[in-house]
Amino acid sequence: MQTLDMKRIRNIGIAAHIDAGKTTTTERILFYTGKNYKMGETHEGAATMDWMEQERERGITITSAATTCVWGDNFINIIDTPGHVDFTVEVERSMRVLDGAVAVFCAVGGVEPQSETVWRQADKYHVPRVAFVNKMDRIGADFDNVVRGIKEKLGARPVPIQLPIGIEDSFTGMVDLVEFRGIQYADDLGTDPHVVPVPSSMEDEAKAARDAMVEILADYDEEIMSLYLDGQEVSAELVKRALRAGTVGLKIVPVICGSAFKNKGVQMLLNAVVDYLPSPVDLPPVVGTNPDTMEDVTRASSLAEPFTALAFKIMVDPFVGRLVFTRVYSGKLTKGSTVFNATNNGRERVGRILRMHANKREELEEAEAGMIVALPGLKATRTGDTLCDESNPVVLENLVFPEPVISLS
Ligand code: GDP
Repeated sequence: MQTLDMKRIRNIGIAAHIDAGKTTTTERILFYTGKNYKMGETHEGAATMDWMEQERERGITITSAATTCVWGDNFINIIDTPGHVDFTVEVERSMRVLDGAVAVFCAVGGVEPQSETVWRQADKYHVPRVAFVNKMDRIGADFDNVVRGIKEKLGARPVPIQLPIGIEDSFTGMVDLVEFRGIQYADDLGTDPHVVPVPSSMEDEAKAARDAMVEILADYDEEIMSLYLDGQEVSAELVKRALRAGTVGLKIVPVICGSAFKNKGVQMLLNAVVDYLPSPVDLPPVVGTNPDTMEDVTRASSLAEPFTALAFKIMVDPFVGRLVFTRVYSGKLTKGSTVFNATNNGRERVGRILRMHANKREELEEAEAGMIVALPGLKATRTGDTLCDESNPVVLENLVFPEPVISLS
């Protein structure tokens, strides 16, 4: 039996204006996370090819409604969010299953009208965000302009936590303001980033930017406020804690930069996802309705609660057939068990539980609260249905997400 620490899960979407680099950024994420991951259990399909071979053959792209990547000890589930401007039910539903999002902006184009639409959707569902300013290598790239756009056009409070080192052709890395260090890339081939001192030519600018960051965080972190007022050093650990609390509490948006195309900044983006976006346990319980009593029911991300899950997307997989993509909100689902579909009053046997990776499927014995899995073999379950424990029925279709509480964990 695998028991996954829920704090290590991130369920995220990647949102972007068309052409900002969502596809390239996602591919690089899958590349960097896939490179090191060895699956422990049985798999099928393309598993005999190694990753690089696979990548050369057809490029790594997400072909699935949700893809699990492993970064360090963490499981990052990327949920495919349709990029359409219109507010389709599908967009709304996929927004519901996200706990956080990466907003990708083009460093040249900045905040464009379509980015505003996606941003408003994320606002509506209280989705915490980090912003990735991509294409820093392109002529006309302007990091500060994008930060300004996030503030002025989107009404958010952007907090740059990096500064670009160089620009356009000479963009070679970034200053990490949290740790106050430089990250330099030797070339454009995705060579492991090197940690270097902050370049001396940027020291004054970087100090001022770190102070500006600390000043914003002092607004809602008392410990930082008193250190700031005393003119004392604020540690990276404290800064991280406050950035996380501010992001999860929807007060701020950390902003980082990079060039996905030139393999720069993607590892730092993955770190930011883990450091600042919430895990399922950081968020308040979801609210559903008991179909018998019509009373509100809450379900927290906990194994102690009855099993509750939402089917958010149906896809047909070339190898496994019809797959029901499901987000488990509470309790756990066990392979071979029968679940109750509270939406259609039916019962379904869950014969297999799959975790989908970019190019592989992994068989699981169980799926616990917080996880996103694909269930083959369910016949009558449709998108939007709630699967649950029959003695504790709940319908999540009109899911209400309360305002997040700021968590300092
Ligand atoms: P999407 O429409 O948001 O999915 O954008 P894509 O990832 O398809 O990128 C759009 C175009 O921009 C493609 O031609 C990419 O090769 C290019 N692109 C993506 N990221 C970068 C980058 O960091 N730098 C440069 N110069 N081009 C990029």
